[in-house]
Amino acid sequence: LFAGPVDFVKGVVAMDGLPPADRPEVCFAGRSNVGKSSLINALTGRKSLARASNTPGRTQEINYFALGQHGYLVDLPGYGFAKAPVAVVAKWQALLKNYLAGRPTLRRAFALIDSRHGIKDVDHEIMRLLDRSAVPFQVVLTKADKIGPRAMEATVAQVTDELQKHPAAYPELVLTSSDTGRGVAALRAIIAGLE
Ligand code: GDP
Repeated sequence: LFAGPVDFVKGVVAMDGLPPADRPEVCFAGRSNVGKSSLINALTGRKSLARASNTPGRTQEINYFALGQHGYLVDLPGYGFAKAPVAVVAKWQALLKNYLAGRPTLRRAFALIDSRHGIKDVDHEIMRLLDRSAVPFQVVLTKADKIGPRAMEATVAQVTDELQKHPAAYPELVLTSSDTGRGVAALRAIIAGLE
């Protein structure tokens, strides 16, 4: 699934804007500021690819990137930011719900969790949605460079424990840092292995 050049396709604001479901895709979800754009940029080797998704006005869009002809990488809107108006949050929640429940080509979701913070309530909400939508998901710990090995052990233990509440979760975590590149190749290989 990970071959060929990576290109921004479009930002989607409604279900009827989704590209045809004609190839496998993976999606990335996480709280705002978790490091999602940085990780997508590191994964794709394109420095500013996911920046578009972080600019005001684009943050509520589902951003599609093409992995050559073979698949899509899907950047979901960051969640959990306090300042968003209720109506905006409701709109993206509806879109997210419909997307997760109604995308037959979605092979796996990656749930990004900050290594320093572990799984919070808002993360559980998304994971419950993934459970209900029967979308298999895998946790990716971000910013691994920001904590030492002891703290990382504690985070891994907390997350592993919390994941037992989620039937759609893979037990294996992926530890990453966009700054050092740790885990990026491993994550790329996981995506490449999906068909
Ligand atoms: P997003 O809102 O989830 O897309 O998060 P960004 O990718 O924009 O990152 C949020 C902040 O965290 C930025 O200041 C990044 O430079 C920083 N950041 C992201 N990934 C890493 C990482 O792996 N290590 C460190 N130290 N900082 C990171």
